[in-house]
Amino acid sequence: MKRTITHLADGRELIYFDRRDDADRSAIDRRTLEPRPVASELRYDPLTEEWIAMAGHRQTRTFQPTGSANECPLCPSSDTRSTEVPAYDYDVVVFENRFPSFSGNFGTYQDVGGLSDVRPGVGRCEVVCFTSEHSSSFSKLSDDQVGLVMEAWADRTAELSGIEGVEQVFCFENRGEEIGITLAHPHGQIYAYPYVTPKTKLQLGAAKRYSGNLFADVLAAERAAGTRVVASNELWTAFVPAAARWPFEVHVYPHRQVPDLAALSEEERAAFAPLYTSVLRAFDDLFGVVMPYISAWHQAPVRQDRELAYLHLELFSIRRAPGKLKYLAGSESAMGAFVNDVLPEEAARMLRSQVDH
Ligand SMILES: [Zn+2]
Repeated sequence: MKRTITHLADGRELIYFDRRDDADRSAIDRRTLEPRPVASELRYDPLTEEWIAMAGHRQTRTFQPTGSANECPLCPSSDTRSTEVPAYDYDVVVFENRFPSFSGNFGTYQDVGGLSDVRPGVGRCEVVCFTSEHSSSFSKLSDDQVGLVMEAWADRTAELSGIEGVEQVFCFENRGEEIGITLAHPHGQIYAYPYVTPKTKLQLGAAKRYSGNLFADVLAAERAAGTRVVASNELWTAFVPAAARWPFEVHVYPHRQVPDLAALSEEERAAFAPLYTSVLRAFDDLFGVVMPYISAWHQAPVRQDRELAYLHLELFSIRRAPGKLKYLAGSESAMGAFVNDVLPEEAARMLRSQVDH
């Protein structure tokens, strides 16, 4: 694997991850770009003890048409068109988001009154292009290609963890128009947060109070029960959690407890690829329509509770039937109290029958 760091016209970093050592990465960004926006500010909600990022500049994001490859900013550049990626082809590429929720580009911020502390939204947001093929999807990537994406994730996790002020690194993919994705090109994002996220705090708090190893026990119990296991191999298990919140939700755990993607062995990365893409294909085959989903890597915080945390992926869709989406309405949005219309055992059975095909 070859890694090449370059810069875009406005100074943002762009990093190529290439399978071939002789890949030519000398192409330069020929565009004239506006200066980068300043960072968001963070405001503290004393009632929930959570930080909220105020990223007003994101409102001015240019609307990107979906689907059309000849206007896609994530496709490689060509003689006649300059995109976010200067090269004419690439394997996997990562670059800093043009409209980040967190960045090293500090703005000014001031006391806003009330009981809310304010601080700059230090951190970094990156875009990961999983492939140069516009009309592909993660589920269609070869095992080799997934391996390269995993190398990129591991590299970025290690690198971003080293930025001063960063407390957690989150690699994720939002897929589908129903999730609000305007770019069809297969891509994901990486957020380096200046705080430990609320979800991780909750999970680690529960792990701390539990007598024993909570994550390992959940995995062992699901493997023992078997009824909700969707797919597994020697090193990974994918299962629908017993108390799933979403109609179709699958958690993927490595059998060995590691804090983050950077700590996975080569064998573990290799074994993840076929398992994960088979689950994604099962998602798409379920109703014969593209399944919108969110795929989220839960990693240990950078500085705290690393021995407690257990790297795992949480994948879920908001589609509960053809033409029917699960919306977060009153109970979920206002109270955080989920109601799931699909029994986890039934969801697992449906997904398993697609994986087995
Ligand atoms: Zn594209």
